[in-house]
Amino acid sequence: MNSTRTLSFEFFPTRSEEGRAKLAVTRRQLRQFSPQFFSCTFGAGGSTRSGTLQTVTDIMQEGMPAAPHLACIGARRHELLEILDGYKALGIKHLVALRGDIPSGVGLSTADGLHYANELVEFIRKEYGDWFHIEVAAYPEFHPQSRSAEDDLRHFVRKCEAGADSAITQYFYNADAYFHFVDEVQARGVDIPIVPGIMPIAGFSKLARFSDMCGAEIPRWLRLKLQSYADDSASVKALGLDVVTELCDTLLAGGAPGLHFYTLNQAGLCSTVCQRLGLG
Ligand code: FAD
Repeated sequence: MNSTRTLSFEFFPTRSEEGRAKLAVTRRQLRQFSPQFFSCTFGAGGSTRSGTLQTVTDIMQEGMPAAPHLACIGARRHELLEILDGYKALGIKHLVALRGDIPSGVGLSTADGLHYANELVEFIRKEYGDWFHIEVAAYPEFHPQSRSAEDDLRHFVRKCEAGADSAITQYFYNADAYFHFVDEVQARGVDIPIVPGIMPIAGFSKLARFSDMCGAEIPRWLRLKLQSYADDSASVKALGLDVVTELCDTLLAGGAPGLHFYTLNQAGLCSTVCQRLGLG
């Protein structure tokens, strides 16, 4: 990767010691690409609080910068402070600040809570100054709950104005959506790096379900082709690797400031894409 571009890999916390050991192997495999950091997701409402802490502690002990995600919805301010104090004590300097989504049916108090990511960024800046490099989420195909594209762009700009240092996007398979989004927010005065989030294609049905939920579009031609392979997972993976490598190539050639891979805790497909891009 060109020295001004960033590469990062995202994991989710595991539940068992066996999963933790497997994740350590995945990280070792991905380190050959010299990423800037590894990030770890956080279950909104604190459901993975200890798992996220464990994972970022493991990452830091391996000598890699870790970026824990932190979701504010359903959390009280004192809980957020406890978590952030813990990260600061560990020497963590990088965060992904989010609103998060509360799983349905979970009732949580929001008495003194924060409702949107821009409030969380503001809160972190007020309490910790410039200690943390703060990433926020961006949605080139727009957030599924936004009332309109314009509204979503406006809310993204608010997160930047609140003090975000950079952004990572939701995944997408249409490079034009990314370039259009970057143009739109730059026209509104945003100049932070917006790093595309990349989701390798491991299978069709799970990806389709998840994409419907999070508002990421699988282009019709790709959807139909993946669907036609049915249980032929080798063909799904082969096409997925071609599509995702070409997407990354197009993004980097068009000036994207780096790549952030959603690994789903697996090194295989991400490694192949990175090798094909000549990053290894
Ligand atoms: P916000 O930026 O707060 O936006 C949420 C919605 O509210 C949008 O529709 C926006 O237009 C609207 N909005 C924003 N501000 C306002 C305002 N002030 N007034 C009115 N409306 C407003 N989820 C997790 O639970 N854990 C994770 O670890 C996690 N990691 C992620 C990492 C990345 C890179 C991305 C892209 C997403 C991640 N998510 C994670 C998912 C994310 O939490 C959800 O998409 C969530 O619904 C929105 O979070 P946000 O931070 O983008 O919210």
